[in-house]
Amino acid sequence: MTASRHKAERTCLGCRETFDPQQLVRYVVSPQGEVLVDYRKRLPGRGAYTCLKRQCIDDAVKRRQFGRAFRGLAGDVSAEVLTESLVAEVRSRILSLIGMARKSGCLVSGSNLVMMALSSPDSFTLIILSADISTGIGDKIKSKARHLGVPCFTFSTKEDLGHLLGKEERSVVGIKPGGLANSIIEELSRYKHIAGEF
Ligand SMILES: [Zn+2]
Repeated sequence: MTASRHKAERTCLGCRETFDPQQLVRYVVSPQGEVLVDYRKRLPGRGAYTCLKRQCIDDAVKRRQFGRAFRGLAGDVSAEVLTESLVAEVRSRILSLIGMARKSGCLVSGSNLVMMALSSPDSFTLIILSADISTGIGDKIKSKARHLGVPCFTFSTKEDLGHLLGKEERSVVGIKPGGLANSIIEELSRYKHIAGEF
């Protein structure tokens, strides 16, 4: 990892430690003085950064670090609003990746189809279970997945997953191996981390 040492590092406004920008959340300030979460790091202008942690966002707001970072251009910020907005951004990124996985044929949905595919060991890189899946089905899939070493993540509702996939309710989604699967795991881990802190 010597190469990463040469990359420009950024400081978290909360804990003041430096990190590779990839590990941090970027913020920009709108012309109206609103601090915006720039999760995809695409918005123009001066950026400020925090860790993907509720505590760091809280500390940055408490210590008025956003005001300082944006040189007085930022209006009042609320840690609650920033965190909610961050959670929404990660959630929408995950939904869009699941949509891409469907389009590229890297996805199987529905408890029966996923269960059937789970009889061969390399079918999925990960499994997504809706938060409102029935306990019986959820436990069955989790135990089978655990046996095969496939990680399971809880995300969204069966209605929202179904809607995204152009179906009725879908409480289980299996993602096949590939680049998208790795991105989805990464975002789901981030989601679990930040949303789990509520
Ligand atoms: Zn931090």
